[in-house]
Amino acid sequence: MEQLKQRILTEGRVKSGNVLKVDSFLNHQMDIHLFDEMGKAFKERYKEDEITKIVTIEASGIGIACIVARHFNVPVVFAKKSESRNLDGDLYTSPIYSFTHQKEYMVRVSKKFLSAEDKVLVIDDFLANGCALLGLIDIVKKSGATLEGAGIVIEKGFQHGGQQIRDMGVRLESLAIIDSMTDDSLTFRD
Ligand code: 5GP
Repeated sequence: MEQLKQRILTEGRVKSGNVLKVDSFLNHQMDIHLFDEMGKAFKERYKEDEITKIVTIEASGIGIACIVARHFNVPVVFAKKSESRNLDGDLYTSPIYSFTHQKEYMVRVSKKFLSAEDKVLVIDDFLANGCALLGLIDIVKKSGATLEGAGIVIEKGFQHGGQQIRDMGVRLESLAIIDSMTDDSLTFRD
């Protein structure tokens, strides 16, 4: 998606540890017009699929998922990272290792909101080593729902997550795939 690539090139900052900071339009301040274009792009890519639910993970995935969901006209369910008295009843859980926080935590989704009848599109902001996406896929599988695919805003193609998930036979669509990045240069896959 050309518009997204241009924003990454002009506003993205490469931080230590292979972290790309895009907090002016994606991870802190959110450009809702750009998000709307992303929603259109995912809808175009999954237009043949009868998606019934968007699944994402808190926190950064939620804003994008909500706008994507408007294009599919379906609800969003987000996996929660912490226990809460508001989260009652039976849960699907999966352990996830966080790339940005460098620790493992359990994510959870109430069984009320995901079932075998659902056809799921998983949405997230970044794909690096694939832990977040694998955890969400695990939760979808535990619910018996059909995983139609995943949509990622920025895939860091030089990390192994994308390859691993495509090798599992999962349909994975990324709006921008970065092949290499250093302080002063960033290249995209065509
Ligand atoms: P993974 O689990 O694939 O290793 O990492 C994906 C998760 O880590 C995403 O949900 C995202 O929040 C975070 N993440 C991974 N790489 C980056 C990055 O370069 N920049 C930012 N802002 N977040 C990242």
